Amino acid sequence: MLPDNSLAVVVLSVELELVGMNLTPQSSGYFLVVLSKELQIDVRMLRSLVNSFECDSFETLVDYDMPRDVTFKKLAKVSDRTVVFCQQLFDQDEVVKGSAIFALGGGFNAFYRRKCSVDIGLRKEAAGYTVELHAFVGSEEPNLDEIKKILEETFDPLPPGKVRCTSGPFDPKMVKFLVEQGLDLFDSSYAVSLAEKNSAFRLADDYPASSSFVLTNFEDEKYADDFTKPFEDCSCYTCQNYTKGYLQHLVNTKELLASILLVIHNMTEYDRMFQLIRAALSISDDQ
Ligand SMILES: [Zn+2]
Repeated sequence: MLPDNSLAVVVLSVELELVGMNLTPQSSGYFLVVLSKELQIDVRMLRSLVNSFECDSFETLVDYDMPRDVTFKKLAKVSDRTVVFCQQLFDQDEVVKGSAIFALGGGFNAFYRRKCSVDIGLRKEAAGYTVELHAFVGSEEPNLDEIKKILEETFDPLPPGKVRCTSGPFDPKMVKFLVEQGLDLFDSSYAVSLAEKNSAFRLADDYPASSSFVLTNFEDEKYADDFTKPFEDCSCYTCQNYTKGYLQHLVNTKELLASILLVIHNMTEYDRMFQLIRAALSISDDQ
């Protein structure tokens, strides 16, 4: 089903809304997500999945990040369990194949963020890192200073040359901020989650110099008789073939095609966003 030369990455999660699943021809990589509330995910299952699917890389298991008001006792327990997951994964006779992306947690606590990096991130098996930031997803005004501090505590002890990833539906403003903090790789769940809200986005012309973008919600009745393109200068299939009025009709009659067309636009725009970021970074590297 997937192109032969695409990268296969295994990520296990029981939370569909947090991870999402994105498969598009434009993607250079894929997340295989196993989802079941009833399924007991353990190290043996992860090793078996990675080896069976011959995946290029996989995320290690992390005990889920804790809410802000969690006790130190609970944080210590979670931290210890994450270390045990790693020991069970790598210190066994059966070898797990593929490159390991180490999942780093620690909740809102700077000490436990750093501790997680030191305890597991310095292992020789680490090909890269993914950092848990789910607590900040969906917040209208995330505390950027707090996220910056968490990322510094996480990455300070680690070697600088290894890929750094995060997952979650981050908007263009947040992506720009996270790139500035050293994150290299994101998933594309923002494009899907926005489509599920019947919305599409368009970057400002000066992105990423400015981090602004426009959101359009096609539930709005004002688009009913609007026969213009959804976004005039967008070259995606949706914008080239459909009008705002037709999208408004599809959304309000709950047609499946609505979310398909919105995902196509949002995915195209999210991809364009990373092209713009890469171009801006290469210019700054040259100077
Ligand atoms: Zn478009």
